[in-house]
Amino acid sequence: MSIAITTKKRSRYQGFNHIDRIIGDLNITEEERREISIVSKVLPFKVNNYVINELIRWDNYHNDPIFNLIFPQRDMLPPELFDKLSNLVDQEAPAASIDRMVAHIRSQLNPHPAGQMTDNKPVLHGQSLEGLQHKYPQTLLFFPTHGQTCHAYCTYCFRWPQFTGQQEWKIAGSGIDTVIEYIRHHPEITDILFTGGDPMVMHLKRLQAYIEPLIAADGPALRTIRIGTKALSFWPYRFLTDPDAAGVLDLFKRIKQSGKKLAIMAHFSHPAELKTRAVKRAIERLLSVGAVIYTQSPIIRHINDRSETWSDMWQKQTALDCIPYYMFLPRDTGAQTYFAVTLERASRIYRDAWRSMSGLSRTVKGPSMSAGPGKVSIMGVQTINGEKVFVLQFLQARNPDWVGIPFFAAYNPKAIWLDDLKPAFGEARFFFES
Ligand code: SF4
Repeated sequence: MSIAITTKKRSRYQGFNHIDRIIGDLNITEEERREISIVSKVLPFKVNNYVINELIRWDNYHNDPIFNLIFPQRDMLPPELFDKLSNLVDQEAPAASIDRMVAHIRSQLNPHPAGQMTDNKPVLHGQSLEGLQHKYPQTLLFFPTHGQTCHAYCTYCFRWPQFTGQQEWKIAGSGIDTVIEYIRHHPEITDILFTGGDPMVMHLKRLQAYIEPLIAADGPALRTIRIGTKALSFWPYRFLTDPDAAGVLDLFKRIKQSGKKLAIMAHFSHPAELKTRAVKRAIERLLSVGAVIYTQSPIIRHINDRSETWSDMWQKQTALDCIPYYMFLPRDTGAQTYFAVTLERASRIYRDAWRSMSGLSRTVKGPSMSAGPGKVSIMGVQTINGEKVFVLQFLQARNPDWVGIPFFAAYNPKAIWLDDLKPAFGEARFFFES
């Protein structure tokens, strides 16, 4: 594979937002080039030199998990919608017509699943707060305005509307003073999760502006600052050779010294992301300043839908002193039908991988659906009184009383999401629906 992108200057971040700027150099067929270009008009595309040069195996890119993770594929769009857009492009239709079609296709892809834009918005002094979500009592999600992009984009991202440039679809806003005031009014909040996008795209000054007031705020209940990031996978130099890397690590050290916990919620999709020297050193550095690294990922067809892949990934993570935390199911948005694994299959893959681990690595939870009522985990398939059923439970819930109570759904071998399930034993509704 020849591609003219260098990583010699490792501290120099080279990101590429426009697919036409890089696919000209890739050794792929004309048809693939065209398909990638068309799908990327709908689903956001971004890659960088580290991902291209160090993570993707170009000698077998069709089957490469990281290629599939980053590069849009034709089948990610419903065929009739792909054809409509493709025809407009072939006919060199006016830009406005193409934009209208792109907007139409995006609107068909359930851009905001589980009532994200409306259901979880906190209110303070009668005012609805932007850029915050408060769904579960203990944890407040914070979307810092300057952290709403990533070092590269995952094709399966459930937050893909964040990156389309459509302002009305963006979750961001609220200054840190408002966040702190909200936390003071809600002593049940023990954890704040910086999320996005990827907060680790922010440079040191921005991170300081958010984190230092939180350290100083002395909120009685706030114990943990979590940072959700894929920087370890997509740009480990963020913690190594970026010009402000030492300052970032020093800031993290001060979180720990203040008596709070720093949890890096690291998104790893495949063991291939753990193989480079850079990611191993970046993990060491984070651990050296007192961070605890928890790992999580969705289970995704074409990328990691084998138990051996998960078992390998969790074992590598444990060996690097990271804590496997969650296996998710891909949310009902974007290219879900391309990526989805049935609930039954996901449950089997999880169980087979989990069984192969030593007790120390069995810290992981899942497979879990982040649905409207909460995080629903599939415990397995069982036959009860002659009826085959899914056994489920809430790991987190809008109503904390629901957590941990097993419940049952009628077996459906095609189910890929909670909406596909009906209550077992002839019940009219699930207990949480009443
Ligand atoms: S890193 Fe996370 S937020 Fe960014 S594109 Fe991937 S899944 Fe989405």
